[in-house]
Amino acid sequence: MKNSLNDILGQKRAVRLLKSVLDSGRVPPAFIFYGQDGVGKMTSAKRFAFSLSCQTKTGCGICEACKANEFGEGFRVIDISDYFENSVEKNKVSAFRKELNTHSHAHDLNYFVVSIDNSDLMNESMQASLLKSIEEPANGVCYILITKSIDALNATLRSRSVLVRFSPLNIDSLIILSEKILTRTLTYNEKELIKLAEGSISRALEILSMENSPLAWIDELLKSSSKRSHKWDRLSLQKKMEESMPAIISSRKKWKESLINFDRALSEKAYIPLALEVLKRRISSIR
Ligand SMILES: [Zn+2]
Repeated sequence: MKNSLNDILGQKRAVRLLKSVLDSGRVPPAFIFYGQDGVGKMTSAKRFAFSLSCQTKTGCGICEACKANEFGEGFRVIDISDYFENSVEKNKVSAFRKELNTHSHAHDLNYFVVSIDNSDLMNESMQASLLKSIEEPANGVCYILITKSIDALNATLRSRSVLVRFSPLNIDSLIILSEKILTRTLTYNEKELIKLAEGSISRALEILSMENSPLAWIDELLKSSSKRSHKWDRLSLQKKMEESMPAIISSRKKWKESLINFDRALSEKAYIPLALEVLKRRISSIR
C-alpha cells in the first residue's frame, strides 16, 4: 500500500505507537516527531495523515478519503525555515499565526494534519501561538511537529504533545532505501561507504552522489597497486597505503570538502579507517 505506515523502514517502535493511536480512535491534538534528519519523520507524518482519514485506517489508497488525500486535502506542511527569510520579527510571528489558523474546512475528510517542519527554529512567540492552537484545536485538526532537536521546544509544548522518537536507520534499511530510490543495486564499496551516513538516508544519498567519489580513487589505487603487488607482500602494501593515505586524501580536495561540508563530524579521521578497511578487503579478494 502506497501510503501505509507498514512500509516505513527501520522505525518499528514509532510505527507501533502511531498505529496504537489509530486503533484507539482517540487522536491527540499534537505530536512531536523527533530524531536526526533523514530517518523518515516527514514521510511518517504524511502516512499518518492518510491513515487517520482512511476508511480502514490503513492508508489503503483506494477509499474516497485516501483519494481526497492524494490531492493534499488532509495534509499541509509549514516549514519554519521559510519564515527566516523574513527578517522582521513582528511580521514573522503574525504571518505564522495566520498560517496556523488557515485550514480548509471544505474537504470531506475527518482530519486535517498540519505538519510543522524544522519546528525547533520557532522563537518563543511562535511557540506560544502554536501552543494556543493546540490547546484550543479546531475540529479534526492535528499538529505534528518535526524536529531534530526536541530540547529547543518549550516544556509546555512538549508536555501537551505525544512524543514519537525516530531512531537512526540501521545499515540494512539504508541499503534497501538507497537501492529503491536510485532504482539500482549498490556495489560492495558503496554499501561500505554509506556506513558513514550514520543512519540517515539523506546523508547516504549525498555520499553516493558525490562528485569525484572516494570510490574512484580506491579503484585507481587498487589498479596501480595490483600491478606492483609482486614487489610487495600484503602487509607492507597495506603499510604503504596507510602511510600514503593522508596525501591521497588531500589531493582529492573536492570530494573531501563536500564530505566535510555536509557533516563536519565526518572528518578524514572518520574516513581513513573505513577507506583502509575497504582497501584491505579488496586486496584480500584479489590475492
Ligand atoms: Zn483509504
